[in-house]
Amino acid sequence: MFTRMENAGIADLHFCLDPASGLRAIIAIHSTHLGPAIGGCRFLPYTNELDAIDDALRLAKGMSYKSALAGLPHGGGKSVIIYPEHKFDRHKLMQAFGKCIEALNGQYITAMDSGTLTTDMDAIASNTRWVSCTSQSGDPSPYTAIGVVEGIKAAVHYRYGKPELEGLRVAIQGLGHVGMAVAAHLAMEGVHLTVTDIDTSLVQTAIEEYSAHPVTPDAIYDVDADIFCPCGLGAILNDSTLPRLKAPIVAGSANNQLAEDRHGVALAERGILYVPDYVINSGGLIYVALTHANEEASVIRHKVMQISPTLMRIFKQAEDAQMAPFLLADQLAESIFNPHKDQFNSGRE
Ligand code: NAD
Repeated sequence: MFTRMENAGIADLHFCLDPASGLRAIIAIHSTHLGPAIGGCRFLPYTNELDAIDDALRLAKGMSYKSALAGLPHGGGKSVIIYPEHKFDRHKLMQAFGKCIEALNGQYITAMDSGTLTTDMDAIASNTRWVSCTSQSGDPSPYTAIGVVEGIKAAVHYRYGKPELEGLRVAIQGLGHVGMAVAAHLAMEGVHLTVTDIDTSLVQTAIEEYSAHPVTPDAIYDVDADIFCPCGLGAILNDSTLPRLKAPIVAGSANNQLAEDRHGVALAERGILYVPDYVINSGGLIYVALTHANEEASVIRHKVMQISPTLMRIFKQAEDAQMAPFLLADQLAESIFNPHKDQFNSGRE
C-alpha cells in the first residue's frame, strides 16, 4: 500500500468502514499546502478494493493541479465509496460518510462526482459542514460550461487572433449536463454545431433547439470542424482517434482526455492546440469551492472568467518554451501547489 501511495504522490490516505450502513470509503488527500483539499466523491461499484483505492489515489492528485491553476486556496483530494453489493440504506450510508469527513477536521471538502447526487451531499451535510453541492448550492455543470466556452474563445483568439466564434464549426462529443449547456452557449454565438451522444434523445434536443447536425458516436472524430469539443468520456485522445482528428483545436470538458501524455505531445507535433482539460473544465470546481465559502454569484462568475486569461498565459509561455501547453500547465501548477518540489507531489499521472 505504501508503494502505491508513493507512486501516486499521496502521503495521506484514509479508510472509513461502517458495517451498520455498509459504508466502505477511501479518502485520498494529495495536498493541503494551499488550504483544505477539495474534490468530489465517487459512488461506484468496483471489481475489487484495490481498484477503488487506485481510483482515489489517481484522482486526488489531479485535483491539486486543477485547484492551483484555478487560483483557489485549496489542495487536491478525492473520495471513493464502494457501491455495496447488498441492500443498503443510501441516506444512512451517506450520513456515515459525513461522520468520516467530519473526523478529518476540515482537511478535506467533498462534493458531487460520478454516481453521487445532491441528495447524497445533503445527507453528508447532516454530519459535517465540509461538503459542497448540496441541494441548496446545486449543480456546478452550468459553471463548467461557461468555463469551457471561455476556454474555446481563448484558444480561438490565440490561434486566429480574434475571440469571436460566429461562423466557426464545433463538434461536440457528449450532450450531458455540460455538453448540452456548451451547445446552448455556442449556438447563441452563431456557431455551427455537429453533435453526438449515445443517448439519441439528447441528440434530438440539440437538433431541435440548436439546429445541430447529428453524427454517430464513432463518426465525431472524422468531422471537419474548427474545434473538437469532448464533453463525454476520458481517454478519447488515443492512438486510434488521433490520426482521424481534423480540427486544429481540441477544447472540451471531459476529464483525462489524453489516454497517455505522449498523445498530448503528438497533438502538439501535429499543430493541434490541445487545451489542458483540467484548466478549461475548472469552472465547476470554482463553483464548488466558492459556494462552500459563501461567495456571491458575481464573484464566482468573475473567477470562472479568469479561465480565459490563464489559458492565454499558458499558450504563450508554452510557445516561448517550445513545449506542449498541457506540459507547461503541469509545471505552472506544480510551482504553485508545491514550490519546494520533493519526491512527493511532482509529475501529473
Ligand atoms: P454527463 O454524464 O451528464 O454527460 C456525459 C454525456 O456523454 C452523456 O450524455 C452520455 O450519454 C455521453 N456519452 C457517453 N459515452 C459516449 C460516447 N461514446 N459517445 C458520445 N457520447 C457519449 O456528464 P457531465 O457532467 O456533462 O460531464 C461531462 C464530462 O465533463 C465528464 O468527463 C466529466 O468528468 C467532465 N466534467 C464535468 C464537470 C461538471 O461540472 N459536470 C466538471 C468538470 C469535468
